[in-house]
Amino acid sequence: MDYDTYGSNAVELAIHLANVERDGEWAPAFLRAHDEWFTPQTALDLSPAEARRAAATADLVRAVALAGSQAEVLERLNELLALARPHPYATDHDGELHLHYARPDAPALEQLTTTVAMGLSQVVVQHGWQRLGVCSAEGCDDVYVDTSRNASRRYCSNTCASRSTVAAYRARRKA
Ligand SMILES: [Zn+2]
Ligand SMILES: [Zn+2]
Repeated sequence: MDYDTYGSNAVELAIHLANVERDGEWAPAFLRAHDEWFTPQTALDLSPAEARRAAATADLVRAVALAGSQAEVLERLNELLALARPHPYATDHDGELHLHYARPDAPALEQLTTTVAMGLSQVVVQHGWQRLGVCSAEGCDDVYVDTSRNASRRYCSNTCASRSTVAAYRARRKA
């Protein structure tokens, strides 16, 4: 499937946010681990209130991925989009001309929420809400976006895919 590069990367950011383990100082740690998404000079420290709002955004991304119908997806996606403040601007900061969704001087939380909401929405409206799913591996409930050509993805990662293949093989041998 042909993603526009920025949109596809932005949806990966959304997926990472939905899957990140939230303990202690997770929010600023997450921002720093994905600092390529923020305009240089953006302060990547979040207040406790902002960290809670980042968590709410993560929950909404997850809710969109878990939705079971198009109506449900639309409702949750629009809830997420209501948190976004899109203000597109063109940039070549990494050497390639592309668009960012949030204004460059927006606070970190606004850049995060806007990028995640816009990236996720773009993939859903262009490629269908069935492209989002939750991992089928036992004991894993991470969400993923399926970028495979034939929309055949079932696991969040290669690790979960091979873990499940091994488990299925053992179960067959036992049987
Ligand atoms: Zn960029
Ligand atoms: Zn998994």
